[in-house]
Amino acid sequence: MVTNELAGTLDGIPGYQIKAVAPDGSLRPAPERDEYFPVFYSRETLPSRVYGLDLQDGGIRQKPLDRARDSNRLSASENILLQSAVGDRKGFFAVLPVYRRDLPHETVEDRRRNLEGFVQGVFQFSVMVDTILADTKTPLDIFLFDADAHANDAPIHVHASNVRHRPLGLQSQATLARVPHWAGELSAGDKRWRLVATPPTGASTLGGRSGRGWIVLVAGLLVTGLAVTYMWTSIRDMRRIEAATKQVTLLAGTDALTGLANRRAFVDRLTSAFAESRRGAPSFAVLYLDIDDFKDVNDTLGHPTGDILLQAVVERLVKTVRQSDLVARFGGDEFAILQFGVAEHPTAATLASKINKALALPYKVGGNELRVTASIGISLFSKGTNGPEAMMMQADLALYRAKDDGRNCFRFHTGELDQQVQLRVTLGEELLSAIDRDELELHYQPQVEIKTGRIVGLEALVRWRHPVRGMIMPSIFVPIAERSGAIVAMGRWVLDTACRQLDEWHGQNIAPPLVAVNVSAVQLKRTATFEHDVAEIFARWHVEPGAVELELTESVLMEVSQMHDDTLENLQRLGASIAIDDFGTGYSSLKYLTMHPVGRLKIAQELMLRVTSDERSATVVRATIRLAHELGIEVIAEGVETAAQARFLVEAGCGYAQGYYYGRPVNTAQTTELLR
Ligand code: C2E
Ligand code: MG
Ligand code: MG
Repeated sequence: MVTNELAGTLDGIPGYQIKAVAPDGSLRPAPERDEYFPVFYSRETLPSRVYGLDLQDGGIRQKPLDRARDSNRLSASENILLQSAVGDRKGFFAVLPVYRRDLPHETVEDRRRNLEGFVQGVFQFSVMVDTILADTKTPLDIFLFDADAHANDAPIHVHASNVRHRPLGLQSQATLARVPHWAGELSAGDKRWRLVATPPTGASTLGGRSGRGWIVLVAGLLVTGLAVTYMWTSIRDMRRIEAATKQVTLLAGTDALTGLANRRAFVDRLTSAFAESRRGAPSFAVLYLDIDDFKDVNDTLGHPTGDILLQAVVERLVKTVRQSDLVARFGGDEFAILQFGVAEHPTAATLASKINKALALPYKVGGNELRVTASIGISLFSKGTNGPEAMMMQADLALYRAKDDGRNCFRFHTGELDQQVQLRVTLGEELLSAIDRDELELHYQPQVEIKTGRIVGLEALVRWRHPVRGMIMPSIFVPIAERSGAIVAMGRWVLDTACRQLDEWHGQNIAPPLVAVNVSAVQLKRTATFEHDVAEIFARWHVEPGAVELELTESVLMEVSQMHDDTLENLQRLGASIAIDDFGTGYSSLKYLTMHPVGRLKIAQELMLRVTSDERSATVVRATIRLAHELGIEVIAEGVETAAQARFLVEAGCGYAQGYYYGRPVNTAQTTELLR
């Protein structure tokens, strides 16, 4: 097997070291090579010198390996000195190639590319001949020749019928031909030997010419039979090792739960698909698949049920794809499909849509009827694709897009996605140092009392003055900061800056009653540091209770409720007031408002946009305002751009508003002017 020294040591072979046979026959540490084929499993018990012996030596040991690899057949070596536990003996070895699972080995090129390793059988001539003769009580001298040897060449091995008598002088095939003998051929793989048996010289007592001839005939038949049996059992042994080896490679490439290929096997196959496509094979696609909300199944019904469901999903997947396609499980509820023969978008889209439909049908699991859907991201191979890794990343991005677009759908990877990712990566990296380089700034937008136009508060909105790209808006970099975690440091900076500013305005006697600061869910989830940060900042800038409002979105509120967490109560105790941002865009459930100390509710811009044109939106807003008031919660409308919207709000009983109609977000200096 192709392996390395570390793996050997880990596998419990102490001091495992890759070795090579030196020209003088001794073992030395193997020279540097790209690839080794060291002995990793042997029937010789440990410790034995054979472990770690590199099968390839670039010389006499190399040839049968190359032949076996190229022909996918058993190949035998020349006569060599074998390394064994009992010392070095003359013999040969035979090898069978093992190719990587699921990868083609039809052509010589495929075989070279997809070779995994070899199974080697080692044969000592003495043991071989002894075994053949073990059961024959017939006195015979046996000579073993290389089948291709010259008639005058000496035998490779000689077995004398009895030790006291040595068959001297009868050394070559030419001399043996002159006495009564039996000759037969032995073969192992592609290597052949000639076995010659003669009655011992001087055994004439057995009878005359005819008697000797008879012995030779009987012995010959016997030897032939035994030799054949011997070779067969040896080869069967090798086949058994080969089967075991295949099993090992198979397991290494298989997902235990589903029996599907695993990530490693998938990458292997994808890699060879790239190579095949260079030689003109039809194109292919990678489909990434993820079960939507699979976690819920596990959480509510338990992992055993989840496993059964996954197996049912696999069954449908396998039925939906073509035999030649590869389905793999990457772990959890993540699957990948390698689809072949994909000339254009529709082929992959058809498969994806079939899968979406097949998986959405109800499942019967332990008396329950379950329904799940899946999201799929697709990446098509093209000449410009950078390689297997890049292609898998593209499919992954497309999967993200499918999830973003509402799940239970499929999306293709596009160049635009690539650019977005590129930008995301670059900005993410730059954002980390943006704070230190003082590139962030806060703008403030006034919140007014509609009737009087008096400023009752300011919302702090972060901006990034990028040295190259200019002013970047939070809708672009906040999501990036949330993904990278930079939001924690950024949020701390925003809160600190807003509080410091408030303190400064207090010093100038122009402070607004309230400054609102946006808080991301990611900040809140790291509860310990967040509450700690808030307390520290409030203390540093002498923030009075109720002077700073933290804006959270509905989904944050919902998550906090599910966590049975008292974070919001703790924040309130620190003196912060809580507002719900963008109310009406999410779950719009007043239930959560009753569970937490929410002081204000901000009606989303999206809802406000429609109140003057769409009666239903108007009704929703009116009802929200009334219910909030009954719960003792203030209401402020966001995104107010027109006088008509302002009139609507007054009629609906909403006292406060924020929007371009009253004032756009402006920088600190302009805000200070405004406050004066
Ligand atoms: P948001 O909290 O809902 O903030 C209101 C957004 O609407 C601001 O966009 C504001 O400029 C814009 N806006 C205000 N009045 C109007 C109007 O009349 N018409 C229209 N079309 N838009 C109006 P901005 O500053 O681009 O911020 C976008 C979002 O980024 C914010 O939405 C908030 O969710 C997030 N954000 C801003 N600053 C921060 C921050 O410091 N931390 C966190 N975590 N998020 C922030
Ligand atoms: Mg806000
Ligand atoms: Mg908002």
